[in-house]
Amino acid sequence: MEDKTAKPCLIVSACLMGYKVRYDCLDKKNDYIINELSKRFELIPVCPEFESGMGTPREKIKLYQYEGEIKVVGTESRTDYTDTIKEFSRKKLKEISEKWKITGAILKSKSPSCGIRNVPVHNLNGDILYIDKGLFVFILSSEYPDLPVIDDQEIEDQKKLEAFLNRVNK
Ligand code: SF4
Repeated sequence: MEDKTAKPCLIVSACLMGYKVRYDCLDKKNDYIINELSKRFELIPVCPEFESGMGTPREKIKLYQYEGEIKVVGTESRTDYTDTIKEFSRKKLKEISEKWKITGAILKSKSPSCGIRNVPVHNLNGDILYIDKGLFVFILSSEYPDLPVIDDQEIEDQKKLEAFLNRVNK
């Protein structure tokens, strides 16, 4: 028998739920998500960077475009974390989907992993080439192209929040 909760499930960037998983060991706790949305949804915290083994504290990463693809690279060591984050993301989404029905995601804005838009992609000189989404969101949207997603800045906008919740509740 399926072991899926009756409450709809939202994937949430773990730092928004108060987990100290950012590169600087801090969080970006969002009280509305924790206190209000948790009453209506099963919230599943995910941190693609910490959970893929990058740990805390860690160097900052950025998105770069080279060799014909977008890569996630450490700004100091120039370590390429692309495959690490991609593999983790696919595995984690599979694990979550085996337990819950994924109905939406609330993600941290501007992150090279979690940002749903407005994430700069650089060339190897560090110049911004264009704006895109974070690497975890690439994987999420390729596996769940119609999934409602919103970020922590957009949930401050009542209309955007209502539109997101209406889609999630359908
Ligand atoms: S934005 Fe995403 S990758 Fe960065 S700390 Fe938060 S959950 Fe982790």
